[in-house]
Amino acid sequence: MRLFSPTAIFRRVTNITPEYLHGHGIRALILDVDNTLTEHGSQELLPEVAAWLQRMRAEGIRLVIASNNMPKRVAPFARRVGLDYLAFCCKPSPLGLYRARRAMGVPRSAVALVGDQIFTDALGANLYGIPILLVQPMRQDTKPTIRLKRMLEKPILARYDKKGGLRYGWDAGQAQEICAPRGEPEPAPNAKAARPERRP
Ligand SMILES: [Mg+2]
Repeated sequence: MRLFSPTAIFRRVTNITPEYLHGHGIRALILDVDNTLTEHGSQELLPEVAAWLQRMRAEGIRLVIASNNMPKRVAPFARRVGLDYLAFCCKPSPLGLYRARRAMGVPRSAVALVGDQIFTDALGANLYGIPILLVQPMRQDTKPTIRLKRMLEKPILARYDKKGGLRYGWDAGQAQEICAPRGEPEPAPNAKAARPERRP
């Protein structure tokens, strides 16, 4: 089960802070696109995500996109945000993550993957031996295959919570500091979500 377990869970990508990254020795991020930086299949760039990317750059965090989706979907979005990208990178295979890390010129010990899916992103990062910063999907999935995967993710996430895994961004103060939540505030996924941060 450790191969599927997230390192930490964030409500939105915008809840990942430079302070968190610096505190964990992370100097570079490999970024998933669908349901991480934007909604599945969308080219929309939300202002808060654009601001977050800018903040990461200003803090010296290196960034690259690695998506399992096709180049015709990934390339326009990558151009829009001004990032290099790898499309069709076959996560959970570690090969795409290796190539993404090499493209940034940083050691594996300084890289983390940001993504929304357990069976591609979390498994891939764990196989490659880097932290996986899991984000809550930006929108509920409609594709039957992904909906099935979401069902299968539930016991893994429940186990993560039961073992006291860290969640960031459900604390209203923190979420509002980084980005305005979209729509109605969501309830904390469990009673432990609002407790103070502690080091893993
Ligand atoms: Mg995704």
